[in-house]
Amino acid sequence: MTGKTHRIIGLVAGGGYFLATASGAYQPATLGAVIVASYLGSLIPDADDAGADIWHTLPFGHTVGKITDPLLKHRNISHSLVGIGIYTIILLVILRLMPSYWGISIMPVLIASSIAYASHLLVDSFTVEGIPFLWPWSRMLGIPPKPFDGIRIQTGKWFENLVVFPAVNISLIIFVVSYWQKIKSLILK
Ligand SMILES: [Zn+2]
Repeated sequence: MTGKTHRIIGLVAGGGYFLATASGAYQPATLGAVIVASYLGSLIPDADDAGADIWHTLPFGHTVGKITDPLLKHRNISHSLVGIGIYTIILLVILRLMPSYWGISIMPVLIASSIAYASHLLVDSFTVEGIPFLWPWSRMLGIPPKPFDGIRIQTGKWFENLVVFPAVNISLIIFVVSYWQKIKSLILK
């Protein structure tokens, strides 16, 4: 699926988790961090794509790119359970570096971002290619499984653009409207 679809779904998934579980007490910094971290978490699995481009612009980049290819190849380790685990650990380290007077609660941000990351993998598993969820086992898995994979979605084609993308945008609007009171209590004193 393309980035535009992933980020809206990531925001709804990560933000939805936070708004459903938050107490409603004033915590604007945590809400802001949840939004940023959900946004990033939903896009990071595809950062390996850009990474591959970076390799090809560097001298000897092709050689380095070939060596690192098993890790950087699109929809590889980043689209797996191992990838979610590594991402969560790295994010935890980064969040712990944030000064406590910023007022960010680490756990909700960590969980929201990991949920957004996981939502990316779930959505990609509905595409024709599938994902190597059980990496290093290289088998591409998807929903529905073979031999019913013929009805899976093609990334960037009409079904994503005309059905999935509008539907996720509507769900984002419904989500913000239905949680509006709680959002207000999180950001206003
Ligand atoms: Zn992806």
